[in-house]
Amino acid sequence: MSNEWKWYINMSHEDADVVKIRSFVTKCLESVGTLIEFTAYNYAEVLISDEFVDHFDGENYYKLAFDFDVARQHEEAEFVTYGSYFLDKVIDLASQRGLTCKRHIVDSDVELRNLPQKIANRITFRNCRVTFMTNSPVIYNYLLFSFKVSYVSDEREDQIIKLLVNLNTGHVDIRMLEAVGSAFFTDSSHTNYGIENMQSVEYAYGVAIKTLEQQIQPKIREIRTKIEIRLAFEKNRIMEYYDQIDNELKSKLEKLNESKNKEGINAINDKLRLSAIERQRRINEIEEKNALNAYITLFNSTLISQTKIRNKYNVKRGKTERDTYVVWNPVLKDVEPLVCDICGTETFDVDLCSNSHLGCMECVSSCSECNTRICKSCGTFNECCVCGVSLCDRCKSVCENCGDVLCKGHIESCTCKEETRREEQKAEKRKKEDRILEFQQSLPQLSRSMKHYMDEYVKKNIDLLDENWKKALFKIQTALTVEDKLKAREILSELDEKYPDNAWVKARLVLTYERFSTKLMSLSRHAVSMAPQLAITHTAFAYMLQKRGALTYDQTVDEYEKVIKLAGNDETNLIANAHYQIGKVLQDHTYDWWGAINRWEKALEIDPHFSPARQAISYMKASLKGRF
Ligand SMILES: [Zn+2]
Ligand SMILES: [Zn+2]
Ligand SMILES: [Zn+2]
Ligand SMILES: [Zn+2]
Ligand SMILES: [Zn+2]
Repeated sequence: MSNEWKWYINMSHEDADVVKIRSFVTKCLESVGTLIEFTAYNYAEVLISDEFVDHFDGENYYKLAFDFDVARQHEEAEFVTYGSYFLDKVIDLASQRGLTCKRHIVDSDVELRNLPQKIANRITFRNCRVTFMTNSPVIYNYLLFSFKVSYVSDEREDQIIKLLVNLNTGHVDIRMLEAVGSAFFTDSSHTNYGIENMQSVEYAYGVAIKTLEQQIQPKIREIRTKIEIRLAFEKNRIMEYYDQIDNELKSKLEKLNESKNKEGINAINDKLRLSAIERQRRINEIEEKNALNAYITLFNSTLISQTKIRNKYNVKRGKTERDTYVVWNPVLKDVEPLVCDICGTETFDVDLCSNSHLGCMECVSSCSECNTRICKSCGTFNECCVCGVSLCDRCKSVCENCGDVLCKGHIESCTCKEETRREEQKAEKRKKEDRILEFQQSLPQLSRSMKHYMDEYVKKNIDLLDENWKKALFKIQTALTVEDKLKAREILSELDEKYPDNAWVKARLVLTYERFSTKLMSLSRHAVSMAPQLAITHTAFAYMLQKRGALTYDQTVDEYEKVIKLAGNDETNLIANAHYQIGKVLQDHTYDWWGAINRWEKALEIDPHFSPARQAISYMKASLKGRF
C-alpha cells in the first residue's frame, strides 16, 4: 500500500452524532493537509490547503459549527451536519481520495492436515501429476465498496449497492460479500503472517464500477418502463388538450371562410400556428423532465483482510512443471477458484501448457492430432475453421485460398471453398435456367397444350437436349407444312431413338406412316400412356386402330371422340380431322352414310379449308343420288 493511503473511521454509521461528524471531518481535513483549529466547543476555524481550494469552490477559509446551538451563536459559521454543504464537500473529498477504514476478519481454526484431500475434490488439474508441498496461513485482502446510486428523473430513487473485490484475484466475490455481512471483525490481524500480493486500488475500483454498471441495468430498465407509461399518459393529455383547442379554432375558421372574413381568417391561422408550437414545447418539456439519469457516488470503502490458508502444489506433466497456490478460505470453508494465467477468469478446471502456463479450458487445450498442450498465451493455439478442433502449429494446415487454419480432415473443405462452391452451384443453376428458357422460347409454333407439354419436357430433360434437338424440331415443322412426310419421318425416327421419352415425337412419327404395323401400334399406345392429355397422341392411336380395320372401329371412334374432347381451341385441324375420320369409319364399317356426311359437315364447320371432308361429301352425295 502506498504511503498516501490513510485509514479513517467509517462515517456511514446510522446513529451518527456530532462527535462522529466532528471526528470524521477533522481527520479527513488533516489528511489532505488542512489546518483545523477548535477555538471554542464545537466551533473551529479551517484553512484549506491550496491544493484543495478548488474543491471548496475557491474558498480557503471557513468557520465551522458542529452543533445546532453553536451554529445559532455563530451565524457566520457553516453548520456541519448531515446534508450540509460543508459535510457533503468533505464526503465528496473522502470518496475521491478513497478514504476508508480497515478491518480484519477474526481468524478461525483450520485443520490444516485435511486440506489437501478437500482441495483435490474441488480443483481439477487436467492430465497433470499434482503433488501437495506445504501450506501456511497468509493474509489476503478485499476492498468493500459502498455505492449510492441515485436514479433521477421526474422522481428520484436511491439505492445502496455493496461490492466486494478480491484484491488478489481482481474479481468481485459474491459468495464472500454475503459471508462478510455476518463475519466478526477486529481492528487488526495481530499476527505477523505474510501478506499476499495485491491488485492496485485503482484496478479494484475499476472492476467494481464495471460490475456496478451491469448490476444497475435491470433497475434502469424497470424505471424506464415506468417513465414510458407515465410519459405516454401525459403526452396523451397534452395532445388531447391541444386537439380540442385546434378543433375549436378550425370550426371558427370554417365559419369565417364562409363569410370571407380575411382578417379573421389570418388571426385564426396565427393562433393555430402558435398552438402547434406550444404543443411541441410542452411535449419537449415533459420529455426533458422525465429523462433518466443515474448518479453513482462511492460513499465508503473498507479494506478487509482475512487470514487464509495458502497451499503450495507442484504440477507436472512430462518435462513441464511448475508450482502453484490453491487458497483455502476458512470463512467459506471452501477452496477459492484459480485464476487463468492467460485470460484471468476464475476457474476450478485448469490445464498446463507446454510452456508452464496454467490456464482455463478456453485458453489451454490439447492438439487434436499430436496431443501436445497448446496455449493462447504462447501463440500456438489454432482452431480448424470448419470443425473447431484445436491444433498445434506443427499439425495445422493452412488454406491456400484464404489462409485460415484447417485440420487434416478439412484441408479440401475450407469454409471459403464452401462459399465458392455455393456460388458455383448458384451460377450453374442460373445457367441451366437460362438454357431452359432459351430452349423453350426456341420451340416451333405449337398449340397451347403441346407447348405446355414441351416446356415441361425441356425443363425435365434440359441436360440431355442439345442444339440438334432444337434444329430437328424446326426441320420437322417445315417438312410437315410442305407435306414431306418422308423427310419428317426420317428426322422423327432419329429423335425418337435419341429422346425416347417424348410423346409428341412418337405421335408425330406414327402419323407419317400410311400403313398399319404392330410396331407403330405399340408406339402410339406408348405415346398415349406417356401423355394421355394430349390430343395428338390420341390422334396417332386412333389412326393406327383405324388402319388395323373392322375389328377395332368402335375403339377407333372412341379415340377420335377423345381427340375432340381434349383438343384446345387452337387445334382445329385435329378436331376437324377427328370428325372426318369418324365419318370415314361410319361410311366404311357401318354404312351410316348420313351419319358420315353429318360428321364431314361438322369438320368443315370447324375448319372450312379441310378439303378431304368437302371431297368426301361431294362423292357421297353424288353416289347417293345415283342410288336413291
Ligand atoms: Zn483462460
Ligand atoms: Zn499437433
Ligand atoms: Zn502457454
Ligand atoms: Zn476440421
Ligand atoms: Zn479457405
